[in-house]
Amino acid sequence: MHTHPHYSQSAIDELSRAYPLLNPLMALTPVSWFNPERQPLEQALTGVNLNADDVADAAARLNRFASYFRAVFPNTRALNGLLESPVQPLAAMQRAMDTRLEQPLAGTLMLKRDDLLPVSGSIKARGGIYEVLQNAEKLAIKAGLLHPSDDYAKLDSDEFRAFFGQYSVAVGSTGNLGLSIGIISAKLGFKVSVHMSADAREWKKARLRSHGVNVVEYQNDYSVAVAEGRAKAQNDPCCHFVDDENSVQLLLGYAVAGQRLKAQLEKQDIKVDKEHPLFVYLPCGVGGGPGGVAFGLKLAFGDAVHCVFAEPTHSPCMLLGVYTGLHDSISVQDLGIDNLTAADGLAVGRPSGFVGRVMAPLLDGFYTLPDEDMLNLLSLLARQEGIYLEPSALAGMPGPWRVENEDQGYRERMGLTPARLARAHHLVWATGGGMVPEEEMAKYLAAGS
Ligand SMILES: *Cc1c(COP(=O)(O)O)cnc(C)c1O
Repeated sequence: MHTHPHYSQSAIDELSRAYPLLNPLMALTPVSWFNPERQPLEQALTGVNLNADDVADAAARLNRFASYFRAVFPNTRALNGLLESPVQPLAAMQRAMDTRLEQPLAGTLMLKRDDLLPVSGSIKARGGIYEVLQNAEKLAIKAGLLHPSDDYAKLDSDEFRAFFGQYSVAVGSTGNLGLSIGIISAKLGFKVSVHMSADAREWKKARLRSHGVNVVEYQNDYSVAVAEGRAKAQNDPCCHFVDDENSVQLLLGYAVAGQRLKAQLEKQDIKVDKEHPLFVYLPCGVGGGPGGVAFGLKLAFGDAVHCVFAEPTHSPCMLLGVYTGLHDSISVQDLGIDNLTAADGLAVGRPSGFVGRVMAPLLDGFYTLPDEDMLNLLSLLARQEGIYLEPSALAGMPGPWRVENEDQGYRERMGLTPARLARAHHLVWATGGGMVPEEEMAKYLAAGS
């Protein structure tokens, strides 16, 4: 178990004198912060023992499993058994946002549709599913049942389900990670337990139970669900715990998105280089999803890609950790911030220290926004484009305007001239919403209009 320092009121006062942005953060006022410590990619990678080969290895593993996906999830056949989502322009939404924010965006707004990812309808279908596959492959190879050159469709058999049934998988989750890991683990034959925080939606728990998943409920927030799940799994050598706060495998699974996006943009004749910058806006909870995707994007596009994380005003954990350099040794609750948000995928009070340390020199910035904005944007996007997302997935939408309005010298430092910004693409990562039941969506739409 981790132990965490306790902060007295005088320690918090001292901290907020050294880090003045903590004052508006504690007042729940939306803030933007552009990272003065951002380093060129080469330099930032020197302290990291993960590289492009590790990500290529993860991509190759997903390719090996493609025939299994074609066999057991028929809706992945159109994509040849890969879990990938489209990128689309958002012209009507861009005009509506220009009006709403009273400022025309110079570049082009686009949306990455991870809400359409097969199997679980969220970004968690990248990292979460990858880690389960990596573990399954390792077990089967070790037992002499599988060879990397085999056709992995053979995993869809009673023999393999019985084999995996000797093992279990566990995870702590606010919802979507549990859905992804629960569904794929149960499909392969693993026994699986999902430890759900209090903010997890009822329908997500019901969906998991219908797949035969053991759902363990907590009255506490996400960090407690993770800690309890981790502690229970530690006593069981046959249990693999997917540790959302510390997992290299999760990060690699998410990072595969980088090369895939590069190929998609090339197909659409969208250039990315110093003269044609790409901005990507990623909603952030504990950090694994956006951190992994951003890591993959940096490897794929180098310094031409600019990654910005978005968090709710009530759960700004990664901003807090990176801005103060305290990472996972401080939580938003330490500052008296309640971690209560309608954006359930982002309801995390303490960030991943692993992700924060790897990504701190690579990220361009962070901003926070109130729940009300996410809900309003949810309904605006539905009206303008007929696209239905969950609240968390809207966190990235105001990002391009935050960049264009910043007054911290960031654009100048990065050489982001007006001419370059006019050629920029701004990609908002729509992290989820594909599995939200209609009656839940109706509630979101009503709340946002
Ligand atoms: C989990 C999640 C995120 C954030 O991912 P983290 O790995 O927790 O940072 C963002 N949006 C949605 C919809 C999610 O489910």
